[in-house]
Amino acid sequence: MNRIFSGVQPTGNLHLGNYLGAIRNWVQLQRDYNSIFCVVDMHAITIPPHDPAELRRATREVAAGMIASGIDPDECIIFNQSAVPAHAELTWIFNCVARIGWLNRMTQFKEKAGKNRENATVGLYDYPVLMAADVLVYKGTHVPVGDDQKQHLELMRDTAQAFNSMYGVDFFPLPEPMIFGAATRVMSLRDGTKKMSKSDTSEYSRINMTDEADEIAQKIRKAKTDPHPIPETAEELADRPEARNLIAIYAALEGSETDAVLKNFAGKGFGDFKKSFAELAVETLGPIGSEMKRLTEDTTAVDAVLKKGAERAREIADPVIREAKEIVGFLKP
Ligand code: ATP
Ligand code: MG
Repeated sequence: MNRIFSGVQPTGNLHLGNYLGAIRNWVQLQRDYNSIFCVVDMHAITIPPHDPAELRRATREVAAGMIASGIDPDECIIFNQSAVPAHAELTWIFNCVARIGWLNRMTQFKEKAGKNRENATVGLYDYPVLMAADVLVYKGTHVPVGDDQKQHLELMRDTAQAFNSMYGVDFFPLPEPMIFGAATRVMSLRDGTKKMSKSDTSEYSRINMTDEADEIAQKIRKAKTDPHPIPETAEELADRPEARNLIAIYAALEGSETDAVLKNFAGKGFGDFKKSFAELAVETLGPIGSEMKRLTEDTTAVDAVLKKGAERAREIADPVIREAKEIVGFLKP
């Protein structure tokens, strides 16, 4: 049976990149797959310091973002990672399968650790191994993510394969990445060569899913562009990263393609384009943002979804971790 697993870290405000690159695709896929969506709170503590109260708030807000975007909590499992201990248990087993050489190649670690790598936490280094356990503890077969997670998916497949061959079993599937849509890598509004991120310190770098209409319009107005008009062909955007990004986001929001957007706006300046862009962004995100706010005013409903989700998740994960431990040779408790 095909099973989707994917997650979002409660590290800050959900943004347009999370929506277009991940959550919106999940909404489409939920009908055809047995789906598990996780608020990965254990990943969110890999870069200290963090404020525990803010972590609780963000955990609920990410769950609210999934529900408000259209993920059905009755059909899918929505839960927070730390509520299912099997993630941590399988991570340890995988720590003894995955190799340091594999982790040393991970670009996300290099970017997030920055220059002072010696000071990064072991957790940040081990992030991809925990991510492998997240999916494989449910024997997930498909992982819908943004383009930035490609490398982690390769490590996940390598880990599954190494476990299977180390123990001579055919136990873990090799999960397939699902990276699709017009905006698999939404870039920062301030720098077209940098990914839009929750953890970017500049608020103007991203559009949050809970931003009010005037904030969205202001951020789009201030978004970096270049002085040239909008070209006719996608090739002419090749060395214009900011322009390319805005056009790609517009196409994704509209559900069209870059070429169609260029056809509409060719020859115009970015001033005109940004006005339409702001309207489109507000139209899409406005209702989702309001529903997120409604859902987080009183935490009862979201907490109930997370609790029920964790119970259902444990039912799937518990037998898998039990069997994995037997395969390794741990005595049954
Ligand atoms: P952080 O900066 O804390 O890493 P983030 O914005 O990268 O936060 P994550 O929680 O790490 O968000 O990722 C959640 C999902 O959103 C993943 O599937 C990831 O690939 C996707 N995603 C994140 N940023 C973008 C982006 N800019 N464009 C497209 N998809 C994205
Ligand atoms: Mg990230």
